[in-house]
Amino acid sequence: MSIKYEKLFNDVSAGAVIAGGPLETAFLENRQHCARDNNIDIIDCFPLSRCPRLKRLVLPAWNRVENKMIEAIKLWKDLESLTMPSIVDSPLLVQAIATNCRKFSELKIMGPFDIYFASSLVTYLPTLKVLSLRCSMLYKDTLIFILDNMCCLEVLNISHCLLIEVPTPPAPRRIVRQLDKTILEKASHLRYFLACMSDTCIMCQKTRNDEGLMRWYKYDEGLWKEDEISSLAL
Ligand SMILES: [Zn+2]
Repeated sequence: MSIKYEKLFNDVSAGAVIAGGPLETAFLENRQHCARDNNIDIIDCFPLSRCPRLKRLVLPAWNRVENKMIEAIKLWKDLESLTMPSIVDSPLLVQAIATNCRKFSELKIMGPFDIYFASSLVTYLPTLKVLSLRCSMLYKDTLIFILDNMCCLEVLNISHCLLIEVPTPPAPRRIVRQLDKTILEKASHLRYFLACMSDTCIMCQKTRNDEGLMRWYKYDEGLWKEDEISSLAL
């Protein structure tokens, strides 16, 4: 268990005041710990009632705790920003955010972002303003679906994504290396559209080498905390 992880829970369990005020931002430092130990239960450790004013939560990985996250989200009425892994059963979680967190505006997904997750956002959270999908695998159809349907979106970050196009069979799927006119036109309503797909970019190379599912533990500590959207960086 990383020191910061322990410290966070110890501090909060003790009802400590962090950074001069009630806990407003919480994050799990060591995502590998979570991935390695299926017995760890983040939410059982997390004293939900002691941080009702939580505004930002960063949990880049979790294991089978969606139900407990939903219970937690019902208590975090002030939650505005969430960093989370890609999960299979996204609709219930997204619905819980939409119902309970009226100020929610920023979402960062770490991991492949599929059409089902995109559909959940369009259905339940169409007012989302900021979305970061950086360093993940993303299908071109899913990107177009987001741009066509998330009309309130102001900022979208797809930097260093492995963008995949699936043409009509039997043509093989291919990596998109340049954004076409259609995508750029559809993205023109955004305030910021952050994209990077360069053969010479080190982060793009890492995403391609890891086939769209970044193995952050291989890289410098802290690399996963970066984001081109400053409010989503740590
Ligand atoms: Zn890049």
